[in-house]
Amino acid sequence: MSIRQKLLFKVKSIELKKIVAPLKVSTYFGQDTFGIEIMRKHVSQKTFEAFKIWISEGKTISLAQANEIANAMKDWAMAKGATYYTHWFQPMTGLTAEKHDSFISFTGPGKVIEKFSGNKLIQGEPDASSFPSGGIRATFEARGYTAWDPSSPAFIIESTLGNTLCIPTIFISYHGASLDKKLPLLRSDDALNKAALGLLKLFSHKHTKKVFSTCGPEQEYFLIDKNYYNLRQDLIMTGRTLTGAPSPKGQQLEDQYFGTIKERMLNYMFDVASDAYKLGIPIMTRHNEVAPHQYEFAPIFEESNLAADHNQLLMELMKKIALRHGLVCLFHEKPFAGVNGSGKHLNWSLVDDQGNNLLNPGETPEDNLQFLAVLAAVLRAVYLHGDLLRASVALAGNEHRLGANEAPPAIISVFLGKQLTHILDMIERGVKSRVSKRDIIDLGIGRLPKFNKDTTDRNRTSPFAFTGTKFEFRAVGSSQNISTPIAVINTIIAENLDYIAGQIKKVTAQQGDFNSAVLKVISGVIQETKDIRFEGNNYCAEWIKEAKKRGLPNIAATYKALEALIKKENISLFEKYKVFSKEELVARYHIWVHMYNLTMEIEANTLNEMVNASVVPAGYKYERLLSSALDKLVRLKKSVGLKVNAAALEDKKAHLSEVVSSIYYVRRNTIAMVKLLEKAKKLSDKKRAEVYFSQLKPLMEHIRKHVDQLECVVADDAWDLPKYREMLFIK
Ligand code: ADP
Ligand code: MG
Repeated sequence: MSIRQKLLFKVKSIELKKIVAPLKVSTYFGQDTFGIEIMRKHVSQKTFEAFKIWISEGKTISLAQANEIANAMKDWAMAKGATYYTHWFQPMTGLTAEKHDSFISFTGPGKVIEKFSGNKLIQGEPDASSFPSGGIRATFEARGYTAWDPSSPAFIIESTLGNTLCIPTIFISYHGASLDKKLPLLRSDDALNKAALGLLKLFSHKHTKKVFSTCGPEQEYFLIDKNYYNLRQDLIMTGRTLTGAPSPKGQQLEDQYFGTIKERMLNYMFDVASDAYKLGIPIMTRHNEVAPHQYEFAPIFEESNLAADHNQLLMELMKKIALRHGLVCLFHEKPFAGVNGSGKHLNWSLVDDQGNNLLNPGETPEDNLQFLAVLAAVLRAVYLHGDLLRASVALAGNEHRLGANEAPPAIISVFLGKQLTHILDMIERGVKSRVSKRDIIDLGIGRLPKFNKDTTDRNRTSPFAFTGTKFEFRAVGSSQNISTPIAVINTIIAENLDYIAGQIKKVTAQQGDFNSAVLKVISGVIQETKDIRFEGNNYCAEWIKEAKKRGLPNIAATYKALEALIKKENISLFEKYKVFSKEELVARYHIWVHMYNLTMEIEANTLNEMVNASVVPAGYKYERLLSSALDKLVRLKKSVGLKVNAAALEDKKAHLSEVVSSIYYVRRNTIAMVKLLEKAKKLSDKKRAEVYFSQLKPLMEHIRKHVDQLECVVADDAWDLPKYREMLFIK
């Protein structure tokens, strides 16, 4: 029996944990976060007020107040069993990082007390000089600094033998350049706020003080049994399978999507949810996804900054808790070939401080005009900056997804749905120079319906779809930190809210009539941005042709997509809105191209080892079996005159030859792959990425094809790598 087969018994005999019925969620939601209400209880009124002003208006608190908050936070955390604290930050790798410090401080020789000062709360010096900075930090000033982000509450992470207080922070260089994913997001929300307020003012919403983006990321993931995972070096090293013959049954029967959730997985989901609720992460929906063993969690939407932190935290919880259940949670965008990959649909909208969603049509014709103006800004943003949206989701894992027949294509387009399309068509056709309320009603704008998702949400193939009250950016990868995509969306929309506001002012000044000016501007944008709108099936071949005709970019390669970050006009855009400096953009471009290369190299080296140490030996074993059987047969034929059907003998010979050839092709291509890697070492990062995309990837696919052929013939008990049909179907 192979190691793999022995595991089969283990997998089946895993005992399900009995989970005690959890409390009512409302009784413990957020109990492990130092939220605003907890703070109110633990600090003086004056400090609390100062803190609130800090969050809403950016006016920082005094050191004495910081000391008071730090002390309160420490007492609260210690009461919850925390002995360490950490500044929790999100470096440009896309992961989260933490360096833990104890609360202890000497009071005399050999004597300590627990202490936590305002200084330590506000700023940390994790050093962390090994994080990629893309040249932002020269070695002599290699330190990175973390700074408290008061808009995201501190929280407690539990582990069996102790708890840790985590303080969400931004991560910056000595000169204040962002070394992380979070600071640009915060800056982009500022830019969006300013621009949106400018537009709202024109629509006489003078009472609105703040507008911010909201986000609800739908998190897709796979779960597989840990026993299998341990035997797949590719999953361990790269998060995806580099070989594996397709399972005869994949997702073709569509019996997984929204199907009954198996008990083992359901238990896992309950476990994740209860830990998430303690941390104030509002998980709402859970269901089976399309591929076997693929699932999804979706939260209630929140302010983007919080949603981004919560998504990072949720992914960490999901990985950690899976292990308790003998499972491994996979966030890779394409862990298994031939079945769907995983994305993270980013639902995005903008909301004012009164709770009004600006992408929700209102009750009055005026509000509806405003809604259409915001919509026009979104259309123009995507029209002008599809390249940046594409760049914001460019990473090696997502390269397997975008453009394949299951996920949004690499071509960025917008879907609006029938009703809205119809209204835009009417506006485009005719705008009078004076527009009365009656005209607005005639255009169909006076009584805009609520665009509920039943009428608008059916196009699942669009990368940027209007789904009722929000846009859904579907090209984001499941493993990604959502901060960068949000920062890009916020910035490009800020620019176009400004543009629309500017145009409305200009045309109103020329013509005098506000309503007709708004409609004229919207009509202009509708015409200008027509090419970005596509209501059809984004997966079909005609769209690729059509998009090409329209001049829409279709960039498959990560390194190419990333070039948008360093285009001159894009640098100006981000600098204008103070979201990224040129230095920060160039750094990100370099880091992400480099990370692409590293990912490819890890994959190729892993494949090399798998081939040499697992696949080829298994092939030889089977080859030996075949050749000795053949040899024996031929001998018996000679020695005792055994009658052997000539065709049967030929078949045996042919089969042996096939196996010998398969092994040969696997080896030959693997040797070529190693040579290619060696050659690529001498190239610049950009050239290397080019070679990896155009030569290494196809070569790896080729190796895989032959390995998978072998997998289907080699005797089952000689094959040690867990198979797709096992990993994906044993639950
Ligand atoms: P879908 O049909 O796309 O699954 P849902 O209404 O179930 O639509 O929402 C999916 C995600 O979109 C959820 O996480 C939800 O919280 C989020 N969402 C809903 N409204 C908004 C909004 N105004 N802003 C941001 N995200 C939103
Ligand atoms: Mg979904």
